[in-house]
Amino acid sequence: MERRHFLKLLLSTIFVLPTTKADAGFLSSPVATNRLRPPGAVSEETFLGKCIRCGRCVEVCPYRSIVQLDMKNGVHAGTPLILAETVPCYLCMKCVEVCPTGTLKKISQEETRMGIAVVNRFTCITWRGEAICRTCYNVCPFKEKAIRLDELRPVVDEKYCTGCGLCVHGCPITWKEGLKAINVEPIHLMKGSTQGI
Ligand code: SF4
Ligand code: SF4
Ligand code: SF4
Repeated sequence: MERRHFLKLLLSTIFVLPTTKADAGFLSSPVATNRLRPPGAVSEETFLGKCIRCGRCVEVCPYRSIVQLDMKNGVHAGTPLILAETVPCYLCMKCVEVCPTGTLKKISQEETRMGIAVVNRFTCITWRGEAICRTCYNVCPFKEKAIRLDELRPVVDEKYCTGCGLCVHGCPITWKEGLKAINVEPIHLMKGSTQGI
């Protein structure tokens, strides 16, 4: 085989570049609405390079809030993710203590910013005036700060919201594609920032 062709073939087996939609899916981040990295996570841009997929955060979580992604998630397989509407984060802060690489930084409950809850005023039954529901307010660990009631309607203050997802989990209203009337938008998608710093 010609040397030039051999090198080209060799390189193509080492670097699989995303050329199709499926390849892009293989590489794209699993972080999305209600799909969150655990507390203290470094930015999503550096997460992949720092997390060694040891699963310690998954094992230590007493609520089983963290799932370890499977092979379907391509290069993200083995990394941790919280599915907020299924099992939210109860902010026990055990996972940040055991991470050996600093991918989850040791931060406090108050410093946690996995995302920010956003109320959909078109689907929330209280905002729609159909019922008086205050479940999200009742379950929030920082009620009166992260979430308060304005004429009985829930309003989130992003300064204090940790993105724990307890409100998402508790909200009784589900509409398209499993979204609730309140959902957590991941912090890195909103501001490109990291947690606790
Ligand atoms: S803070 Fe506690 S509840 Fe939340 S993901 Fe970490 S170990 Fe689980
Ligand atoms: S508003 Fe929701 S996501 Fe934010 S701290 Fe309260 S329960 Fe957690
Ligand atoms: S729990 Fe859901 S429906 Fe109830 S007030 Fe909060 S956002 Fe609205």
